[in-house]
Amino acid sequence: MSATIIDGKAFALKVRGKVADHVARLKADHGITPGLAVVLVGSDPASEVYVRSKGKATNEAGMKSVEHRLEADTSEADLLRLIDDLNNDVTIHGILVQLPLPDHLNEDLVINSINPAKDVDGFHISNVGLLGTGQKSMVPCTPLGCLMMLREQHGSLSGLDAVVIGRSNIVGKPMAQLLLGDSCTVTIAHSRTKDLAETVRRADIVVAAVGRPEMVPGDWIKPGATVIDVGINRLDAPERGEGNTRLVGDVNFASASEVAGAITPVPGGVGPMTIACLLANTVTACSRANDLDEPEGLTA
Ligand code: NAD
Repeated sequence: MSATIIDGKAFALKVRGKVADHVARLKADHGITPGLAVVLVGSDPASEVYVRSKGKATNEAGMKSVEHRLEADTSEADLLRLIDDLNNDVTIHGILVQLPLPDHLNEDLVINSINPAKDVDGFHISNVGLLGTGQKSMVPCTPLGCLMMLREQHGSLSGLDAVVIGRSNIVGKPMAQLLLGDSCTVTIAHSRTKDLAETVRRADIVVAAVGRPEMVPGDWIKPGATVIDVGINRLDAPERGEGNTRLVGDVNFASASEVAGAITPVPGGVGPMTIACLLANTVTACSRANDLDEPEGLTA
């Protein structure tokens, strides 16, 4: 059996198109432009790349993008003051503080100082609680993107057995909550899980969010299952020339794609959906802030 490859790049373009349409309607009908502020403290090279591509994607969707770049030694008080200003700025509907923060800054304190209605990363403790209790919230972008791809693949997820490998606050736990919300029977597996292979073999849906290159082999996958590979692992690739690297997921794509019914590749699967969902969350936050209808198909 050869799996359907879920094209995250193409799907993300569709989501971004829907966002742009909704933005155009907000502008034309209500004179409102959604605004996203991204705050970067320090100059971590990977974070710089993320922030640049977030800004570009925000502009391409017709939204306002604001970047605040602060020195690595910025004090917590100064950062909290900036967040307070953004909380009170009516032209800003989404605030994202790029993580990780330098060690002297308390990440929880900083994230929880964002107005939950503007917390487009969905990491504020209020949004975590709202999601956990099945209420309207801002949902973390990566799991939201995974959910959208699963719904597209299956239609209803009701009654399906899902295994989420990884229990992080940004991927594993919210993913499990979303799958539960869609009436899956959910198992969260992690580094202490006793028989991971057997646990995964029972699953109609496998979401791998671990950060270990190709740790899930094809013979763990139930024939026909849908596999969502969140992992991004960079490996040396001397075969591509001296100093070159390549990206692989947490799933062994070659063997898993022989067994699965559908699978996301790495790169080109979950990654592009994450940024598309950030844009979706921003336009959702803007619609809610103005008591307008939310965009269809862009929320959980
Ligand atoms: P994390 O390090 O916070 O969490 C990893 C989880 O994996 C932990 O809960 C741990 O219990 C579990 N784990 C570790 N070893 C295990 C093992 N042997 N068996 C089973 N579980 C094990 O990581 P994270 O932030 O959730 O990210 C996970 C992966 O997803 C990383 O590769 C990260 O780069 C990637 N990621 C991708 C996107 C995207 O946009 N595609 C977004 C976020 C994270």
